[in-house]
Amino acid sequence: MEQLIEGARALQIRLTPEHLEALRIYQHMLVEFNQHFNLTAITDDEGIQIRHFLDSLSCFQALESGERFSGKAVIDVGTGAGFPGLPLKLLCPGMKLTLLEATAKKVSFLEQVTARLGLTDVTITHGRAEELGQQPEHREHYDWAIARAVADMPILAEYLLPLVKVGGRVLAQKGEGAPAEVQRSEWAIQQLGGRVRRLVPVELRGLAETRYLVILDKVAATPPQYPRRPGMPNKRPLMPKVA
Ligand code: SAH
Repeated sequence: MEQLIEGARALQIRLTPEHLEALRIYQHMLVEFNQHFNLTAITDDEGIQIRHFLDSLSCFQALESGERFSGKAVIDVGTGAGFPGLPLKLLCPGMKLTLLEATAKKVSFLEQVTARLGLTDVTITHGRAEELGQQPEHREHYDWAIARAVADMPILAEYLLPLVKVGGRVLAQKGEGAPAEVQRSEWAIQQLGGRVRRLVPVELRGLAETRYLVILDKVAATPPQYPRRPGMPNKRPLMPKVA
């Protein structure tokens, strides 16, 4: 775990022995579950620790001075095996976390791992972002909607922005193509009541590529027609009509 500890320190995050023990259990369960069901393509120790755990923890860089996730309602959309939501929750127990995942097997893993880690205030929901975005109990309910590796930015904006309350934020973890992706999605973001706040470049120890946190502000209510029905955001991503 040395690489992870060092990498976290470079992000100004101190991992305690309790954090490390929880992450060890999580890692073990990932590897174990993955032998029966394909949860993640990354299964080596270093890959899990850097590309999953450390990369998830880099989301703390989205917070500005004095801000915390503690006490905030956060939804991780398309969380898969729990990334980035679960590592954030492990370090920030006061966060009110909802994990949303469309695949039943992954939901089953999430239930097992959260039970084993004794996490409270985690809601695991089996469903699609397009459905939750139209449900009154989820629509415009969250302080933060976050996602990693779920969809291209114009599509992701339609998944995430409807879930966020006005005054809340979106956090999308993206690769080096982020600036171009954001540019292509500016029209969609505006239609959905969002505005680009900033892009935070992130360097992870042991990884050559630059990663980005794309942060959007929710500045206006999302029009009721969004999100469109399941599959539509992906089939017809929101793009300006060219004359
Ligand atoms: N965020 C995780 C998983 C990425 S894979 C990680 O970074 O490791 C993308 C996941 O999103 C898959 O598990 C898929 O089932 C889920 N997903 C894709 N579209 C979705 C949608 N519209 N609503 C909910 N989950 C979705």
